[in-house]
This record gives sequence, structure tokens and C-alpha cells, in this order.
Amino acid sequence: MNSQYCEQCGVSLPDGLVCRDRFDEMLSLEFTDTGYGTVHHLTVLAFYVQHSDELTDQGWRGMLDQLRAWFDESLTVSALRQRARYRNAPGPDKPKITGTPEKLRRFAWNSSIWDVDLSDAELYCASVEAWARSVYDVARVALPS
Ligand SMILES: [Zn+2]
Repeated sequence: MNSQYCEQCGVSLPDGLVCRDRFDEMLSLEFTDTGYGTVHHLTVLAFYVQHSDELTDQGWRGMLDQLRAWFDESLTVSALRQRARYRNAPGPDKPKITGTPEKLRRFAWNSSIWDVDLSDAELYCASVEAWARSVYDVARVALPS
């Protein structure tokens, strides 16, 4: 049996599954159980920073910048949402968030979505935070210093 690797984050995949399947499973947990849902913003940011083929450079950097705000500025979730809403509001001067792939953003990731522990809400939140932190620590080199 040959191993399959995710083309975007490089992780070795379980048989017949892709990272998106895991992401969808996590989103349904987050939407049905508020204990899991508290880290929803981190799940989305970490997933798209690692799986960015459909994001423009600006959209990708915007997501990475939200991780930076979370970890370095300790912004609250509602403050993050407010910033994102402002950035995502339509207007001639606002960047498009999604678009055709411009380039693949390859990094040697230390952690993947498969490292997240789904077994209970507490472990889940801690492992999503650890995964998002590790994604940020690797990708932050792309942000202006
Ligand atoms: Zn992946």
C-alpha cells in the first residue's frame, strides 16, 4: 500500500482520506458542541494557512495576520472578527480573499490537522491551539517584520 501525501500540507494521509475530510469532521463537531466550537476561528485559520491553494496572497496573509494577532497581541475572538469583517467588506480598495491560485506556499510544517485530538472538548481545544500555534510559528517568516 503506497502512502498518500497531502499536496498542500505534506502530511501522510490515512487511507482514502484527505485533510478536507478531517476539517469537515471538525467543523461539524464545532457546530454541534459549543465546547468544541470555542476554537472555531483557530481551526479555520490554521487549516487555510496550511491549505492555501485557493487563496490569493493577500487573502493568505490576512489569515496569517489574524493568527499573529491571536498569539502575539492576544486579541479576543470578537476583536478578531471585527477586524476580519472590516477587511472582508466589499469595496474597490479591499483585497479579494479567494481567487485563482497564485503560487503554492510551501513550508516544512511541524504539525497537521491530524494531530488534533477529537476525543473530548478540552483535549480538542488544547490540541487545536497547539496546531494553530505551530502553523503560525512556521509561516510567520512570510509576514513583514
Ligand atoms: Zn493537508
